[in-house]
Amino acid sequence: MKVGIVGCAGRMGRMLVAETAKTEGCEIGGGTDLPGSPFVGKDIALLAGLEECGITVISDPVELFATVDAVIDFTAPAATMKHAAIAARAGKILVIGTTGLSTDQKAELAEFAEKTTIVFAPNMSVGVNLAFALVEKVAAILDKDTADIEIVEMHHKHKVDAPSGTALGLGEAAARGRGVDLETVSVRSRDGFTGARENGSIGFATLRGGDVIGEHTVVFACEGERIEITHKASSREVFAKGAVRAAKWAEGKGPGLYAMRDVLGL
Ligand code: NAD
Repeated sequence: MKVGIVGCAGRMGRMLVAETAKTEGCEIGGGTDLPGSPFVGKDIALLAGLEECGITVISDPVELFATVDAVIDFTAPAATMKHAAIAARAGKILVIGTTGLSTDQKAELAEFAEKTTIVFAPNMSVGVNLAFALVEKVAAILDKDTADIEIVEMHHKHKVDAPSGTALGLGEAAARGRGVDLETVSVRSRDGFTGARENGSIGFATLRGGDVIGEHTVVFACEGERIEITHKASSREVFAKGAVRAAKWAEGKGPGLYAMRDVLGL
């Protein structure tokens, strides 16, 4: 399977190139980055710390989609929407790890997925996806009068969206467990005189700093005890591994919008 990486000069892009190269049944089909990027025209394998492979980074995604079987996208929301439109037209597999998509963008993604296979996951790690399943289960057992749910996350200082896509994913899992809509119960931040905590709300707290790859804790605070489900990523490799696994899994699947839980059979 020929895999293309859009945004291949980014932190995740480079990891994805390296992971694709070492995955059996996959080969690097090419990569893009923003027009004007100093990395366009450079050998894609050299960027990822591998030996030169003779494929240079280009800036035209249409050209990339035409020559590969699947594309992996860890870029930015506006770029991802453009890539999804191209994937739908070309009928190519698209694996999306980009976070920070708006509700409207997610709805548009579902429309593109009527024409092609899209796997979209705010977090591609196996561990986090297990945490999603556990959180849903605990939230289904502990109702809103028994436990207050709070989600705390920390990431490196370069991250541009908050709360993280994973924190929101954990919130959605908790809301699903309780049979409520996250949009209507979430409290994204608190400042000043906020009044007492509203029963049934799901709170978020965001920390940013240093080189933290990603840490998330879901707290179920009860009377007299507390349950915490924590996931800590110590390498970006786990996300790259999950994304390449998703691309391989998607081969031969019909059009549709899939999640990591489909890929992992959870
Ligand atoms: P980064 O800024 O290091 O990399 C993004 C790359 O995309 C850059 O090289 C940038 O030039 C490129 N890019 C932007 N627009 C483009 C376009 N139109 N065409 C081609 N390239 C374009 O960021 P990063 O740390 O690699 O993270 C990227 C995204 O992935 C973020 O949204 C982040 O939150 C998300 N992420 C998701 C997971 C997951 O498991 N789903 C894990 C880590 C990061």
